[in-house]
Amino acid sequence: MRLVDRYERPLHDLRISVTDRCNFRCTYCMPREHFGVDHVFLEREALLTYEEITVVVRSLLPAGLRKVRLTGGEPLLRKDITALIEMLRNAGPDLDLALTTNGALLERYATALKEAGLNRVTVSLDAMDTALFQRMADTTNHGPDDVWRGIEAAMSVGLGVKINTVVQKGVNDNELLPLAKACVDRNIPLRFIEFMDVGNTNAWKLEDVLTGREVRRVLQERFGPLTPLQATERSQVARTYETMNGYRFGFIESVSNPFCGDCTRARLSANGSLYTCLFSSAGHDLKALLRMEAGEQEIQAAVRSIWEQRKDRYSAERSSMEEPASKVEMSFIGG
Ligand code: SAM
Repeated sequence: MRLVDRYERPLHDLRISVTDRCNFRCTYCMPREHFGVDHVFLEREALLTYEEITVVVRSLLPAGLRKVRLTGGEPLLRKDITALIEMLRNAGPDLDLALTTNGALLERYATALKEAGLNRVTVSLDAMDTALFQRMADTTNHGPDDVWRGIEAAMSVGLGVKINTVVQKGVNDNELLPLAKACVDRNIPLRFIEFMDVGNTNAWKLEDVLTGREVRRVLQERFGPLTPLQATERSQVARTYETMNGYRFGFIESVSNPFCGDCTRARLSANGSLYTCLFSSAGHDLKALLRMEAGEQEIQAAVRSIWEQRKDRYSAERSSMEEPASKVEMSFIGG
């Protein structure tokens, strides 16, 4: 049953985008110029159904799948998302089930998510300051207070909580310390993500990346020396550093310190294509197979043949290769 790619990397994690829609228009992810009122989102019919998603997950459990993360778009916008969580929990009682959210609707859903069998949420939060938060998320409907209420609700029902902050030079550098203080005070793990060149619409420039190392320099002035910790798992995406008081910051350094070598992750897009790298330009259509009545065995065989060919190492090779002509958008493939 062992399933490994050309570099001997197993398939342990699956990220599933359950919708390409979002209630935010983060300028680095779904800029309104490209995702405005006339943007055509996927029709309902094009989305994988919950039954179809469950077939894919079931098919991969015997091949070593351990973690599933629901993402999007904004996964809490998908109708009855808790029903999917329940189905996945029944499929894999030991599966590590997580969800990534912008937190705007988390207060409303926290209890139901926990009851459905979710283990953890990762909440994206880029600023404590309301004006900057709203500028970055390009929304006036929500602010950081809504997100914090969601985080508190999630913690109070017993969901694991982590916070992710995308850092853009000249945009939210002044928010690093306020965010760090808020998380240290509440003992919530905070991870800083380098602004990445995903998709084709976010006008990414290397000059806009504040590297993990630069963020650590800022943190050290306030929190004292940071000591790097040994990764607990080979495929861990965040590098962890500990303060003298034992608080741990994470750094996802996809640009300055790529981690492709250990990547055990596949992604299922909202319309049912399997991607073997966040920076892929094309996926492998599983939906067509599912709609031709393929069962778990056929899906497992299809994924096996895709994974065994896998040799993506985009982040590790980006400086020495030509930019792919077109990359899939983060909101579609799932961050
Ligand atoms: N809507 C959910 C959320 O906000 O967390 C889930 C989807 S979102 C695409 C997942 C994660 O991708 C978020 O933490 C977001 O900040 C991150 N992200 C999006 N575009 C990015 C980029 N260009 N570089 C780094 N992270 C990015």
